[in-house]
Amino acid sequence: MSKLSKKFEAQLKAYTQGGAPDYAQRVANLKKLLAAIDVWEDRIVAAISSDFASGELGGRSSHETVIAETFMSKSDLKHTLKHLKKWMKPKKVATAMHFKPARSEIRYQPLGVVGIISPWNYPFQLAIVPLVAALAAGNRVMLKPSEHTPNTSALLKDMLAELYDDETVYVALGGVKVASAFSELPFHHIFFTGSTMVGKIVAQAAAKNLTPVTLELGGKSPVIIDPSADLGVAAKRISVGKTMNAGQTCVAPDYILMAQKDIQVFADKMISSAEELYPTIADNPDYTSIVSDRQYQRQMDLLDDARTKGANIMQAGSDSDNALAASRKIPLSVILGATPDMRVMQEEIFGPLLPILSAETPEAAIAHVAKDDRPLALYWFGNNVQNREKVLDGTLSGGVAINETVTHVAQENLPFGGVGSSGMGAYHGEYGFQTFSHARAVFHQSKFSSAKMLYPPYTIKTDKLLKTLKKFF
Ligand code: NAD
Repeated sequence: MSKLSKKFEAQLKAYTQGGAPDYAQRVANLKKLLAAIDVWEDRIVAAISSDFASGELGGRSSHETVIAETFMSKSDLKHTLKHLKKWMKPKKVATAMHFKPARSEIRYQPLGVVGIISPWNYPFQLAIVPLVAALAAGNRVMLKPSEHTPNTSALLKDMLAELYDDETVYVALGGVKVASAFSELPFHHIFFTGSTMVGKIVAQAAAKNLTPVTLELGGKSPVIIDPSADLGVAAKRISVGKTMNAGQTCVAPDYILMAQKDIQVFADKMISSAEELYPTIADNPDYTSIVSDRQYQRQMDLLDDARTKGANIMQAGSDSDNALAASRKIPLSVILGATPDMRVMQEEIFGPLLPILSAETPEAAIAHVAKDDRPLALYWFGNNVQNREKVLDGTLSGGVAINETVTHVAQENLPFGGVGSSGMGAYHGEYGFQTFSHARAVFHQSKFSSAKMLYPPYTIKTDKLLKTLKKFF
């Protein structure tokens, strides 16, 4: 038996023997994680930065790490601690008249032993937030963080091993081989965050065990700028969402659709907004590096491909190519004249490249979005309510932000998840609790069972009763 299988079996045994942890145990599990994030915060910031750094140069902005990793994880933990008692409470639901006085309720029970697979782009938060939901729901958890951020993954292992025994939370480190063996374990649920391509492989592995999956995937998230939009406000908010983590965000704006006549003015505003946010790039600790040479080369290849096929590229800042390459940083790069045969229009960009395309009407924008896979996010900027509703009704995406980018993800009362090729299932707040719980239907028959009146042998009395009941159905 492999080490992974042994760890799984140990968790399964503990679950079978120990049953569901009660409210107090779950609160204790969550509270120690909340306290640990504060204690470990400096080490978390340093580990993530060293994972993103190019040798001694570049790294991950410490502010971005606090905002998008530790703060977001703590905020989710606090929200969960505040509401968990209510979420765990059985929910009474109505019972149909002809079954009364019986009663019905839904009880939320832990699924058992669950697996979480997380990516490199927000390597702490995207491991911790699903873990919070899984522990709140009373599960035992095995976590497989990304091999592309090895320092953060090692930190997660050390930090979580200090808080929990292996039967409660176990962290498995490793690359594709470990990930692949991990997804073949007969978990009661697998929660995967990563690319659509790997999501399909995980779903296939899970299907062999009939393990249900939540897939938090990627895709090309469009921005639609209505003619009624304030272009200055839109440019600022889009550049913030696009340059955060240097575009390495699953819900980063991927491309823009707007009226042709405004494109050049808007592109200029995008560049000046980005330059206000980051007056310099290479030596600026606020601007994050591309995570690896491979990902950096991919962005460069996308740019070269667009340039060769005739696109016009505008870049923010005036840093030298050498300084940028040494720190593995790429400035916001607006791509004008992008065509469908360019790779930037065929793949999820996942970096600071931003094609701007023309769509003259809401209908044209809707048609453009509809011919691609369903995106994880969609952004709409404008003030014309009719056009806004037209776009909301005519498109489908995991989530939407109106006159904003990215921040819908931080709303704990909204579900976060994709649709179609951007994923299935959702989490955050109560949605995460429900994802990791089984909503069990419980029916309580009363001493007097009205159903008895419909037992065989069927008689004239039954026929009369059915005739009366038919009036109600
Ligand atoms: P990835 O799919 O390459 O890797 C994600 C995880 O899957 C890693 O832990 C990896 O080890 C594991 N993995 C790799 N091969 C596997 C296999 N054969 N079987 C099982 N697991 C395997 O993704 P990535 O490059 O780390 O992240 C970028 C992608 O993730 C982008 O597409 C992005 O949009 C998406 N993403 C989505 C969300 C979301 O919440 N929807 C969040 C962040 C990133």
